[in-house]
Amino acid sequence: TKNGSGWQFDNSYTRLPDVFYATVLPEKAPSPALIICNDALAKSIGLHVDALQSEQGIDELAGNKIPDGAHPIAQAYAGHQFGHFTMLGDGRAVLLGEQLTPTGERLDIQLKGGGPTPFSRGGDGRAGLGPMLREYIMSEAMHGLGIPTTRSLAVVVTGSPVYREEILAGAVLTRVAASHIRVGTFQYAAARQVVEDLQALADYTIERHYPTVASQANPYVAFFEEVMDRQAQLLAKWQCVGFIHGVMNTDNMAVSGETIDYGPCAFMDTYDPATVFSSIDRQSRYAFGNQPGIAEWNLARFAETLLPLFDTDTEKAVGIAEQLLSQFGERFHHHWLAGMRNKLGLFNEEQADGQLIKELLQLMQAHKADFTNTFRALTLGEFSELQMASSEEFKTWHSRWKERRARQEQSEEAVLQLMKNNNPNIIPRNHRMEEALDAATKGDLSVMEHFLAALKNPYAYTEDQKPYIQPADPETPYFTYCG
Ligand code: AMP
Ligand code: MG
Ligand code: MG
Repeated sequence: TKNGSGWQFDNSYTRLPDVFYATVLPEKAPSPALIICNDALAKSIGLHVDALQSEQGIDELAGNKIPDGAHPIAQAYAGHQFGHFTMLGDGRAVLLGEQLTPTGERLDIQLKGGGPTPFSRGGDGRAGLGPMLREYIMSEAMHGLGIPTTRSLAVVVTGSPVYREEILAGAVLTRVAASHIRVGTFQYAAARQVVEDLQALADYTIERHYPTVASQANPYVAFFEEVMDRQAQLLAKWQCVGFIHGVMNTDNMAVSGETIDYGPCAFMDTYDPATVFSSIDRQSRYAFGNQPGIAEWNLARFAETLLPLFDTDTEKAVGIAEQLLSQFGERFHHHWLAGMRNKLGLFNEEQADGQLIKELLQLMQAHKADFTNTFRALTLGEFSELQMASSEEFKTWHSRWKERRARQEQSEEAVLQLMKNNNPNIIPRNHRMEEALDAATKGDLSVMEHFLAALKNPYAYTEDQKPYIQPADPETPYFTYCG
């Protein structure tokens, strides 16, 4: 049904067996106020911006008024958290339903910070303004970078405080996602050992995200392969921009292939595969260089859940899973190499490209070079701020790169364009993020708004991006929290 804001809800998830969710109403917000609304996203999914920002729309974004056609639920799932299996579920998020967009998409609309649910496990179900704005900025920056991600529609404050180490303003983020089905959702189904439920979830997910596999000889094997390939592509994209997710638990890996759960994530400045920002990742499990291996580990947990659907003979099913998983490394490397070739302006493939890239990364690590700004300098040919550029090893590397480019037929102009399209001029740097959040939580939204505007197209190399190029002082440590 249609109403003022333009909601057009369906609730297909509630047609799954009812073990997969709990019907729940969001907590009432005493005095909701809009902090930020993503007008472009709102329009593109069929919402009316004016109505969404009216009193009624804000009440909907705060969870005070349930739009017609919505059926609010909290989803059940499980997950390996830092390697340990746990039964979980949405502890502070309420799924309103699926918005059917004018272009025929079906997108989850979720209120994060919407109050306690049956899965809150003692948590308060709430979220603070700073962390929700951080998710908003990060997810929109990822979208600007061309990386599959959940989106952020709006952040409202609730008017009620949230108690953490300090008292925060309570807030609700409206998250838009292809779906919130996680590897952990399959782990939840598998742990319950009801194969019909597992199959219902698999069939639902196939229909929603991978409809073409339904006609394959074994749809579940083809489904796994598709999920694996999307994760390989996603991880390659992360590694090409220096994104560190920070909490790659299996419940934070979306089967759709979108980046999800912006808690302790951050972008790497100085290139070092050992980089970790999360204050709780004490073993460096989710360090930058570990991410592809962790994705593979998570996919192994995913494959385990699908064994009964791969084959009724367990031994055969395990053989299938092992054979499938053995392809991940190669698939990731394929996508990563393609991404890195683009970053170096290489159109064709040569055997030695991998070596050329590896040597550049080694130089960057040895000289503690800024990841983003090294590729930016290579793109623009501006080496004045690139310390390592004066070293002999770099000069040797640079002449090899130049020779390599000369062996392809594309013009230098085409090379420059390819590089600009693949090497962002700016990323959401940690110190600029903190500055924006600090101002916003004190009531000045302009710092965040300028930041967001600059991050909209990080490949544009425009004037308004210049203030965001400079890295923070590398000697100042930076820590992130789960928010
Ligand atoms: P995360 O590490 O963000 O993936 O969260 C792990 C689990 O903790 C998820 O099931 C969340 O819903 C839940 N959770 C996080 N914060 C809260 C909170 N304040 N209240 C209740 N549950 C929470
Ligand atoms: Mg999570
Ligand atoms: Mg989280």
